[in-house]
Amino acid sequence: MMKIRSFCLILSVSALTLVASLGAAPASAAINIVAATPDLADIAKQVGGDRVSVYSIAKPNQDLHMIEPRPSDVSRISRADLVVRVGLDLDLWMDALLNAAANGRVNRGAPGYVDASVGIQRLEVPQQQITGALGDIHVYGNPHYWLDPLNGEIISANILEGLKRVSPAYANYFERNRNVFLAGLHSAMRRWQEKLSPYQGRKIVNYHDAWPYFVRRFGLKVLGCIEPKPGIPPTASHVASLIERIKAEKQPVVIADAAFYPDKAAKTIAARTGAEFVVIPSSVGGAKGADNFFSLFDHIVDGLVRGFSNR
Ligand SMILES: [Zn+2]
Repeated sequence: MMKIRSFCLILSVSALTLVASLGAAPASAAINIVAATPDLADIAKQVGGDRVSVYSIAKPNQDLHMIEPRPSDVSRISRADLVVRVGLDLDLWMDALLNAAANGRVNRGAPGYVDASVGIQRLEVPQQQITGALGDIHVYGNPHYWLDPLNGEIISANILEGLKRVSPAYANYFERNRNVFLAGLHSAMRRWQEKLSPYQGRKIVNYHDAWPYFVRRFGLKVLGCIEPKPGIPPTASHVASLIERIKAEKQPVVIADAAFYPDKAAKTIAARTGAEFVVIPSSVGGAKGADNFFSLFDHIVDGLVRGFSNR
């Protein structure tokens, strides 16, 4: 599966390289940032302020593991001053894009290259060699680390360092912006913790294993995922065993998923167990009004509270 996917990626990206070489743009005063995801784009915008122009390759409500590069993405990276990626194995497609764009300012190791995962305490790092049986994604540990909002401290620090490298004259400005971001984050954390505090220890079920960072931060638990392994679609027997486990729980379980995952199994499980099913965004822009890193978590927290309090 992995081999086929990578092969297709290489094919399509080589076809795009030609387009990239045509993509010269007029010089602009703004620092041109290309982020892998809307979440990184928003944090880069908050730290960079009016000195930056930010573009996200992934759009809201896409499966971030499965982004397919477009000619315009290569073209944008060829003009970028700073690239911000999720890292681990979430955005392997970014390597193909960087190769195709061949922009020495943002290649791996260049001043304009930011891997936002540097310094993150990774969860679910595999203890054994990954085989096809374990699924072909999450091979370096769980890559959905932005869903612990406090990891915003590390993400914003990595972006800040990148901005200072490419635009040292504005270092103080970026640091001030990051401090404003951190103050907003810490104040919002208190609000989210307060809302979820009555539900400590409650369990959720998700389609994809994207929530371990979130539940650890807020004292919740993941009972199980509808995918038997990350990236592997559910089987009837796996769904049946999940239903039995939910029924065996003393407290009602909430099924919570982003809108872009298939919801057939989730609805079946909800119908058979009486579990509440809530749709929550997992990226900025994934729900109406979830248009920055803070309002994203407002939507997630409110959605879960709605689920927990209905049962
Ligand atoms: Zn994943």
